[in-house]
Amino acid sequence: LEPLYSFMIRARVPAGIASTEQWIAMDNLANSYGNNTLKLTTRQAFQLHGVVKKNLRQTMKGINDALLDSIAACGDVNRNVMSTSNEGLSLVVGELADFANTISEHLLPKTTAYHEIWLNKKLITEEQQDEEPIYGKTYLPRKFKIAIAVPPYNDTDVFANDIGLIAIVENSKLIGYNFAVGGGMGKTYGMPETYPRLADVIGFVRKEKALSVIEEIVKIQRDFGNRNNRKQARLKYTLDRIGSESFIKLLEFRLGFDLEPAKDYKFTSNGDVFGWKKAANGLWFLGLFIEHGRVKDTDELKLKQALREVAELKVCDFRLTGNQGLVLGKVATADKRKIQEILSRYYAGEYQKISGLRKHAIACVALNTCTMAFAEAERYLPDLVSKIELILAKNNLSTDDFLIRMTGCPNGCGRPFLGEIGLVGRAPGKYNLYLGAGFSGDRLNTLYKEMLSEEEILGCLEPLLQQYSKERQAKERFGDFLIRKEIVEPAQSVSIIKKG
Ligand code: SF4
Repeated sequence: LEPLYSFMIRARVPAGIASTEQWIAMDNLANSYGNNTLKLTTRQAFQLHGVVKKNLRQTMKGINDALLDSIAACGDVNRNVMSTSNEGLSLVVGELADFANTISEHLLPKTTAYHEIWLNKKLITEEQQDEEPIYGKTYLPRKFKIAIAVPPYNDTDVFANDIGLIAIVENSKLIGYNFAVGGGMGKTYGMPETYPRLADVIGFVRKEKALSVIEEIVKIQRDFGNRNNRKQARLKYTLDRIGSESFIKLLEFRLGFDLEPAKDYKFTSNGDVFGWKKAANGLWFLGLFIEHGRVKDTDELKLKQALREVAELKVCDFRLTGNQGLVLGKVATADKRKIQEILSRYYAGEYQKISGLRKHAIACVALNTCTMAFAEAERYLPDLVSKIELILAKNNLSTDDFLIRMTGCPNGCGRPFLGEIGLVGRAPGKYNLYLGAGFSGDRLNTLYKEMLSEEEILGCLEPLLQQYSKERQAKERFGDFLIRKEIVEPAQSVSIIKKG
C-alpha cells in the first residue's frame, strides 16, 4: 500500500484580487479535495491544505477552470507579485494592481510542463524546446519576490522583498516608483552567514521604465546569484557580496540609463486597515479580520459560510491582503447593507471588538502542515495572544496596536523578523523571542532571549508592557520604546543608497 501522501497547493493571485467566481471555486475545492478550509497567505495567495495524491490532478484542473493556476507559486522563479489592493486607501491602487499583474505575466515561466503534467496538454517534442527569454536554461538560483506599496501604507512589507516598489504619487497621479532591492526574511539556525535583511532603496524610476528595470534586476540575480550554496542564493546575499553602490552601477550599465535619486516617502504602518473605506469612484472596500488567514467554520464562528454567502450575492470581489486578511472590494452603496447583514448574522470578520494585538497578529501554518516547522504557530498563537491580552488589559493597552508575528521556523514565511514581538520556533513549545522592530516595516527586530517556554515568554513581556504603559512618550510605538530605553539594540533599518 502507498502511504497517504497529502499536499498543499498554492494558487497564484497577483495583487491578491480574486473574483467572486474564483472565491466560490476555491471554496468548493477546499470542500471537495482539501480540509474544508482556505488559507490566505502573507503573499496574497490561496493555499489548499490536505489534498491527497489521488485528487491532485482534479484539484489542479479545478483551479485552472477558475482561471487561476499554481505556476510560479513556488520554485526558483518570481513568485506571486504583491500589491496593496484596498482601493479605499489611495487613488492609484487600481493602477498598482494592474502593474502587479503585468509584472507577474512578464516574469512567468514560459515552460509548457505545467500544462503537460496537470492538464493533459500534448507533450512537446525534443525539437520544440521551451524558450525562457528571462530565466534562460538555469532559471534563478533561488526564489524571487516582488511587492508594491503606496505610502503611508506598507501593508505588503515591501522591504522584505527582493524588489520592493514604493509608489510615488504627485498631484494625485502615479509617476513612478522608488526601487528597494535585496530584502528577504529567511535565515537558518546555526548558520550566521544567513540572515534576514531589509531592502535598500536604490533610486527612483518613472513608471514607463519600471518593468525594464525589474527585468534587469532579475537578470542580474540570474547571472550573479550564488549557485553553489542555496542558503546564500537570494538577491540579498548577491547585493551584500557585490555592494549596493556597485550593484547600482552594474544595473545602470546594463539598462543604459541612470536611476533618479529616490523621492521622499513616509510609511506609517504595515498592518491592514479595517472597516469600510470609500474609493474615489464611489465604490466601497471593506477590510475584514481573518485570524491568521484561516477561512473556516467553527461552532462559534461560521466565517467560511458567511464569506460563501457574500460571494453568492455577486456584488463584490475578494482581495487577499499581505497580512493574511481580506478586503471585500468594489461594493456599490446599495449593496453594503446586504453584505453587512450576512456578516453580522454570522458574527464574521468583526474587528471592532478585537484587541490591537490580535488585529495585527500573523502566524505561518507551521505544525502540522509544514515539514520545516520546529514548533506550532497558527494553531497556538491565538491562545498565546489571549494570554498577552490579559496583560494588556491590566495595563490599559487593549486598544493599542502591536505587531506580533510567529513562525514555526526561521524561514520567515510570516515575516517574524518584522514583528515588534517576533516569536520563531526552536523546538516544540520553545521559541526565540525577538523585539524592537519598527511599526512600519522599516527596522528589523533583535534577538532578546532564546528557547523560551510560554511561561517565560509571558514573564518577559509582562514587565516590558507594564513599563511601556507607564513610560512611553506620546504616540510612541512599542518597538521604538524598547530601542529608546535600550532594552534591545536597534537592528538593521532601511537605507537609502546615494550614488557616490
Ligand atoms: Fe514552514 Fe517555517 Fe515557513 Fe512557517 S516559516 S510555513 S514553519 S517554512
